[in-house]
Amino acid sequence: MSDKKTALVISAHSADFVWRAGGAIALHQEKGYEVTVVCLSYGERGESAKLWKQEGMTLEKVKTERRKEAENAAGALGVNDIRFFDVGDYPLDLGRETQDRMVDVIREVQPKFMMSHSKWDPYNTDHMETTQFALQCRMIAQAWGHNPGQKVLGAPQLYLFEPHQTEQMEWKPSVFLDITDVWEKKWAAIQCMQGQEHLWNFYKNVAENRGNHFRRNSGGQAGGRAAKYAEGFQTIFPRTVDELE
Ligand SMILES: [Zn+2]
Repeated sequence: MSDKKTALVISAHSADFVWRAGGAIALHQEKGYEVTVVCLSYGERGESAKLWKQEGMTLEKVKTERRKEAENAAGALGVNDIRFFDVGDYPLDLGRETQDRMVDVIREVQPKFMMSHSKWDPYNTDHMETTQFALQCRMIAQAWGHNPGQKVLGAPQLYLFEPHQTEQMEWKPSVFLDITDVWEKKWAAIQCMQGQEHLWNFYKNVAENRGNHFRRNSGGQAGGRAAKYAEGFQTIFPRTVDELE
């Protein structure tokens, strides 16, 4: 039980995890990790424009549709644990109740690593508030005095996934992950997002560009790995190592 490998992805809206970390999720599922995805909201108000343009649309219908898409995408990525907090979006309600729920999930999952959004996002404050929320909940989960008797959290890395309009977000990658082997899964998951078809090719291009950066940073013409698709992440905490490489 204790050597079970787990990861936790905290996604502001129900599609974010697909574009930004779908490759990492599919890859780690294949490596034997149990990946849990928490969608704080469905993005029902702010990220569902195409659905809202349909006749007779209601908030409940949008949420149902978005949930279905996210579940299908999670299935395509091999995720069997996706949870929907349904706290509303634009803005998210990240009050005490949501915080307690999140800390409970973190302690239950005991992730080896966590993932969330960029620290700064002036276009979508839900995203940056989610990152702050993830850091806060990680901290509380580490506190021995919070719900004493529960298993306290260690120190999982928080990987910040790549935002939209990267240059505006003060986001700078420190890790590139080769997702070539699971690209077909990510592409299938992307296509589950029927409401945001305008983003499909954009994120294919991002993966190809990051593949180029993977090749360059792994040795380039002098022995670099032939990665075709990659995802970039920014890390928050220092790594602890026995040897530099
Ligand atoms: Zn979002």
